[in-house]
Amino acid sequence: MNLHEYQGKEILSSFGVRIQRGVVVQTADEAVEAAKKLTEETGTGWHVIKAQVHAGGRGKGGGVKLAKNLDQVKEIAGQIIGMDLVTPQTSAEGKRVHQVLICEDVYYPGDSETSEFYVSVLLNRATGRNMVMYSTEGGMDIETVAEETPHLIFTEEIDPATGLIPFQARKIAFNLGLSGKAHKEMTKFVTALYKAYVESDSSMFEINPVLKTSDDLIMAVDAKVTIDDNALYRRKEYLAMRDTREENAIEVEAGALGLNYVDLDGNVGCMVNGAGLAMATMDLIKMSGGEPANFLDVGGTADAERVEAGFRIILKDPNVKAILVNIFGGIVRCDRVAEGIIAAFKNMGDAMNVPLIVRLQGTNADIAKKLIEDSGLDLQSATAFKEAADKVKAVLAQ
Ligand code: GDP
Ligand code: MN
Repeated sequence: MNLHEYQGKEILSSFGVRIQRGVVVQTADEAVEAAKKLTEETGTGWHVIKAQVHAGGRGKGGGVKLAKNLDQVKEIAGQIIGMDLVTPQTSAEGKRVHQVLICEDVYYPGDSETSEFYVSVLLNRATGRNMVMYSTEGGMDIETVAEETPHLIFTEEIDPATGLIPFQARKIAFNLGLSGKAHKEMTKFVTALYKAYVESDSSMFEINPVLKTSDDLIMAVDAKVTIDDNALYRRKEYLAMRDTREENAIEVEAGALGLNYVDLDGNVGCMVNGAGLAMATMDLIKMSGGEPANFLDVGGTADAERVEAGFRIILKDPNVKAILVNIFGGIVRCDRVAEGIIAAFKNMGDAMNVPLIVRLQGTNADIAKKLIEDSGLDLQSATAFKEAADKVKAVLAQ
């Protein structure tokens, strides 16, 4: 589950990480009130208005802007709220901005004493360990740094038995070229950041930029956080931070029905039981000249109700030109699944507006095939993989 910058900063702050302070608002008037409040607390007259969407590169897309007085706060917040923000990480349509973060300005123009770093904590899947990744090249695309100057990115692997040890935190601060107060501050920063990452069950905490101010304070200016979905059952306080407006609408709806659905770009919808078979079915669709429109694992039960829910979800995608059902009857018998499909098909009537190819294999596959062929419905059946691929190919050619 991804979080907004302001939510990530809230978590960081609760673990003692210094952050650029801010207030999240929904309207331009609230933005002005927030800016006044920040001025009282921090003394700064300048503010940064930051679009809150689940995408990086907001600065480049015009979603992060500096306001030098309250009129500008109002004007800029008004422009950003409601806009469709396009960044290198969004689609061409962009992401609708529902709220902005009004932040204290923490940069001093022309100040050569400030520097921006990159620090993230993430899971290294190759070693199965958490690691801190960091660089002196903060503020810009870390992907570009990785491509052009990979030697400027450092990693520090963490032993799960000890956690981040003080020596490692000091080494990171040293490699970032810091000494004196800034070194101490960075050591504290990294230690608290790592604690926040572990104790929130996150799989990523990316802070870019981490700012060193001219008075040698180290703070998080941005926060990109992903919490491990599998840990949310024990992190209810973070589950409440979920913003479904930022997620794929069809996936959210499918998730609520307990269907394991991932939206893809192709033209053939598929409904399968088991993730492995779903992957193989996507290959099958490619072999037939189509492209999978989704990944959908209906799981162990494939009764009429669930099958119908699955069909309706698949058909929400306007690019779907055909649906392939590929179910292996191991514990669940194929004839029962066939009955479910027939009942769902009848119940849907005109809502089922694309050709449907059904491959059932396993227990009672022969009975299932006969049931489908004798149903008098516009359904095509197959038992062999190749037969199913050929039938998909044929309907796509029509
Ligand atoms: P991103 O573009 O989505 O990664 O958003 P960031 O939160 O990283 O902000 C983008 C850029 O805005 C940063 O790299 C900074 O250079 C700039 N920025 C952020 N906060 C401030 C601030 O307080 N003052 C000024 N002048 N610039 C800021
Ligand atoms: Mn950033």
